Amino acid sequence: MKSKVALVRCNSYELNEVKQAVSKGIELIGGPENFVKQSEKIVLKVNLLAADVPEKCVTTHPSVFRAVAEIFVNEGAIISYGDSPGFGAPYATAKKAGLTDIADELNIELADFKEGKEVFFETGKQNKKFLIANGVLESDGLISLPKLKTHGLEKFTGCIKNQFGCIVGMRKAEFHVKLPDATDFAKMLVDLNNYIKPRLYIMDGIIAMEGNGPRGGNPKPMNVLLFSTDPVALDATACRLIDLNPALVPTTLIASETGTGTYSEAEIEIVGDELKSFINSDFVVDRTPLKKAKNSKISKFLNNRLVPKPFILSEKCTKCGTCINSCPVEGKAVNWIDGNHSKVPVYNYDKCIRCYCCQEMCPESAIILRDPLIRKVSKIF
Ligand code: SF4
Ligand code: SF4
Repeated sequence: MKSKVALVRCNSYELNEVKQAVSKGIELIGGPENFVKQSEKIVLKVNLLAADVPEKCVTTHPSVFRAVAEIFVNEGAIISYGDSPGFGAPYATAKKAGLTDIADELNIELADFKEGKEVFFETGKQNKKFLIANGVLESDGLISLPKLKTHGLEKFTGCIKNQFGCIVGMRKAEFHVKLPDATDFAKMLVDLNNYIKPRLYIMDGIIAMEGNGPRGGNPKPMNVLLFSTDPVALDATACRLIDLNPALVPTTLIASETGTGTYSEAEIEIVGDELKSFINSDFVVDRTPLKKAKNSKISKFLNNRLVPKPFILSEKCTKCGTCINSCPVEGKAVNWIDGNHSKVPVYNYDKCIRCYCCQEMCPESAIILRDPLIRKVSKIF
């Protein structure tokens, strides 16, 4: 049987338009009664990467959140929501993202994403232990609401990557140190997703993020909402909309190979609006094959010559220190010069494991990824 992905056109975040589109998409994928039962505790896993306003398109938009929440509240489910941000506290992040007022109005609680419990996942291939947020463990099920965005390490962040925020606080950073290679990191994300098994995925691609994502890129209208129970099929379809080969995205490739879902076009049934009508080949995303990053001595030598480096655009830097706080490497691979907070931080590329947490979390889009010279030359020839 094919995996079904629903595509529904939605040209703005105007609430009534979003409500209609969300309702249509959920019907196309089986109807709300297919995903929740009366009195079940369901957590909406929104994307709250960092405290940014909705217009920056970093987080799940409030209109999408509201439309989805209302449908499942009306279905009789006890809805909560949450995420563990890359930086900052969940409530403050949700407030800035415009979700808290809606939640108060709908009587929806912010689930506990601050504390968690260790779980053992026997069938995990890369990782068997996770510290999962209590809000997730105490629910009967999860509905995932990712945002269509680019990503420095994994090229694209979608359904599978969205569950990374179910791991609490700094435990996320530990994975970057343990698994600096994008493929290994993707294997862990696939394990995590297979443990949590969201019931449904609804991707906010109305205004996506291109370029220097997942926080510092530019908003890009794609005018689409995507719905599926297969996260691989949904992510692959989103990739096709931005003209990115899904096989170049480690999470999609690994999840497909390990049976989480399929990225094959022949095995995906598109329902709703026509896929072709959304394709945007101008979308700015890295379409080159993956660059490997490893943590051994030889690989560090190669990293410095082959793998893109994070680089600070000094004219944009406000010296806030977020990049330093985000760096998971012991002793920090980006730091103040002699502790001087009035100067732009500098990198120690020999220490840097290329996890791109600093680029991901910089609030000023001041960190970009630069190809080392040898890669630039090899692209010419
Ligand atoms: S996070 Fe960005 S703005 Fe803040 S110090 Fe680092 S580079 Fe500068
Ligand atoms: S400097 Fe940036 S890319 Fe390098 S290890 Fe630290 S956070 Fe990761």
